[in-house]
Amino acid sequence: MGYITELDKRYIANTYARFPVVVASGKGSIITDIHGNKYIDLGTGISVNTFGIADDAWQDAVIAQMNRFQHTSNLYYSEPNVQLARLLCERTGMSRVFFSNSGAEANECAIKVARKYACEKKGPEYYTIITLKNSFHGRTITTLAATGQEMFHKDFQPLTEGFVYAEANSLESIEKLVKKEKIAAILFEVVQGEGGVMPLEHEFLSGISQIAAQNDILLIADEVQIGNGRSGELYGYMHYDISPDIFTTAKGLGGGLPIGATVFNQKTADVLTPGSHGSTFGGNPICCAGAISVLSRIDREVLDEVKRKSAYIFSELEGAEGITGISGLGLMIGIETVKDPMLVVEQCREQGVLVLTAKNKVRLLPALNIPQEELSEAINIIKSVCAEG
Ligand SMILES: *Cc1c(COP(=O)(O)O)cnc(C)c1O
Repeated sequence: MGYITELDKRYIANTYARFPVVVASGKGSIITDIHGNKYIDLGTGISVNTFGIADDAWQDAVIAQMNRFQHTSNLYYSEPNVQLARLLCERTGMSRVFFSNSGAEANECAIKVARKYACEKKGPEYYTIITLKNSFHGRTITTLAATGQEMFHKDFQPLTEGFVYAEANSLESIEKLVKKEKIAAILFEVVQGEGGVMPLEHEFLSGISQIAAQNDILLIADEVQIGNGRSGELYGYMHYDISPDIFTTAKGLGGGLPIGATVFNQKTADVLTPGSHGSTFGGNPICCAGAISVLSRIDREVLDEVKRKSAYIFSELEGAEGITGISGLGLMIGIETVKDPMLVVEQCREQGVLVLTAKNKVRLLPALNIPQEELSEAINIIKSVCAEG
């Protein structure tokens, strides 16, 4: 073991099963470790480095803001804050934004707003939120409760009450809960990321959209992982015939800096009132400058490029030896392999390709602008690793 890995094991809380790579530097989709080994990165720090590592335009925007001022608190106005909020609203047709620092916080805010909206509109007993089995919404006590996976719940009881879980893609399961409980909102990922890269069905999403409209239930799309261009549309829900009342995002928004956003439509725009929510770091100007750079570059051309690369990956991997299935949307892809996915990750790494897992799948989350040459090289290595007995 090296010096850094030893210090990590000695001093860092023991929550991460890290891969044995110590990152030293990188550029675009190439990561270099401290020994000088180079890797093609198909993980982007879990869907965070939207345009890769140390992207020039992003770096310029961040450094320029750093040279102006790094933080103001939300007691004062600042330009990066309002420009990013305006960009988010103009690009989505939504009305207002609350900025925080992570996906979990963005979801916490959405949950608070859903409860406040339902309380004021229907009464205080309407606090329950439906989420889906196999979902992932974060690690705080409340977003853990929202996460429909037992394995994340154990050891941390009691969690926040007021969450019930429906089967993904079962309208019957949603209808049953809507009849039985007093529901404020339905929270979902259009593609379940941590749950194994499982896109929801179109029929299911239009169905819940109808049920929500009939019962004045809010629709909340968790776009933390699939959002910000990764799906081939700016936000994943845009592939579907739905318009959420709230969507949340984080991960790829800042291009590598921590920022969360909870984005409200007209119906939910004015639920938050002075003092009802807040965040010291939320909307940090440097993070906002990075996010403006990211968001303003995700245009039709980039999105079409995402779709093209996605089609390329699907066509290469579908039916390939040792690969039994492929799922996902855009550049969020899950691969079912004959081999143990952890072994695939390890063998890919030995051959210079960094990939992730999600549940029982190998997961790919490459940069939106990964050069085709690097993508092809990486996909060929994945294919050969999966094919080897
Ligand atoms: C990662 C993730 C979260 C949590 O985001 P953090 O920034 O880690 O708090 C929430 N929802 C989804 C869908 C995610 O993928």
